[in-house]
Amino acid sequence: MGAQVLDGKACAAEVEGQLASRIAHLSEANVTPHLAVIIVGDDPASHVYVNAKIRACERLGVRSTHVALPSDTSEADLVGHVEALNERPDVHGILVQSPLPSHMDEERITDLIDPSKDVDGFHPVNLGRLVQGRTDGLIPCTPHGVMKMLEWAKVDLQGKRAVVLGRSRIVGMPAALLLAAKGADATVTIVHSRTENIADRCKEADIVIAAVGRPTMVKAGWLKPGAVVVDVGINRVDDETRERGWRLAGDVDPEAANVAAWLSPVPGGVGPMTIAMLMSNTVRAAETQSGFPGE
Ligand code: NDP
Repeated sequence: MGAQVLDGKACAAEVEGQLASRIAHLSEANVTPHLAVIIVGDDPASHVYVNAKIRACERLGVRSTHVALPSDTSEADLVGHVEALNERPDVHGILVQSPLPSHMDEERITDLIDPSKDVDGFHPVNLGRLVQGRTDGLIPCTPHGVMKMLEWAKVDLQGKRAVVLGRSRIVGMPAALLLAAKGADATVTIVHSRTENIADRCKEADIVIAAVGRPTMVKAGWLKPGAVVVDVGINRVDDETRERGWRLAGDVDPEAANVAAWLSPVPGGVGPMTIAMLMSNTVRAAETQSGFPGE
C-alpha cells in the first residue's frame, strides 16, 4: 500500500476555511450567500447528497432553501419554481438535484437557470466559458474539486499525460477541459465506452481521472508506476458483511495503491471536494451578484 492518500476531507476543510473570510466580508455588507436546492422525488441517494449540501451550508453560515417536490410534480411546476428563484435577488445559487424523474427534460431545466446563479456550472454559458479557456467562472463542482485536490498535493501537471475516463458533461468532459486549460497544461486523452485498449491508454498516463461509474474497473496493472490517480466513482456494491448489505466502491481497484504515487479514497476523496466547490461557487455567485471583486 504505497500510494499517498489524496485526502478529500482535508483538502475540503482547507477550501472551506478559505471561504470563511469571504463569507465574513460579504456579511459586513449585509449579504448572506444563499443557496436554493430543489429535489424532485424520493431517490434515497439524492436525498443523502442534498442533506450533505444543506449541512455544508449550515457549517459555513450560508443560507439554504430546500425545495422538496413529489415525484409526480409536472415539468411546468418545476419550471415555475426555477423561474421564481431566478427572480429572487436574495437567492444567489440554484441547484436542481440530478437525476430528475424520467418525465422531465434535465437539460431544459438546466438551460432555464440564470447562468449567474448556476452553481452546478452546467448551464451552456458556464460550460461554454470553460471551452473558451476561461476558468474564472462557475465551474462544475466535481471536476473543479479534482483540480483542487491535485493542486493540494502539489502535482505538477504541465506537459504531463492525463487520461480522463468518462466524457459526461458533469465530470469527464469538464475535467478534461480543466486539465488541458492554459495554466494546467496537461496533455489529455479522453477515454469512453467506445475507446479501444483502455488499459494501454491508462498505462501511458501520469495522471488518471476515473469517472465511469463502473466499480473497480481501473486495475493496478493498468497504471504506470508513480501515477497520480483520482477516483471519482461512487458505486454501491453488495456487501453482506455490512449490516445495510452494501458499501461504496470507487471506479479504481484499491490494489492500485500498490502502484500509484497518489490515490484518492472512496469515500472521503472527491465527494467532500464536490461539496466544498459547491460552497465556493455559491460564495462566488453571491460576490458577483453583490458587486464584490471576489478572490
Ligand atoms: P455518466 O454515466 O454520465 O458517464 C459515464 C462515462 O463513463 C460515459 O462517458 C461513458 O462512456 C463512460 N463509460 C461507461 N462505461 C465505460 C467503460 N466500460 N469503459 C469506458 N468508458 C465507460 O456518469 P457521471 O460522469 O455522472 O459519473 C461517473 C461516476 O462518478 C459515477 O460513479 C458517479 O456516481 C460518480 N460521481 C461522483 C461524484 C462525486 O462527488 N464524487 C459526482 C458526480 C459523479 P459513453 O459516453 O461512451 O457512454
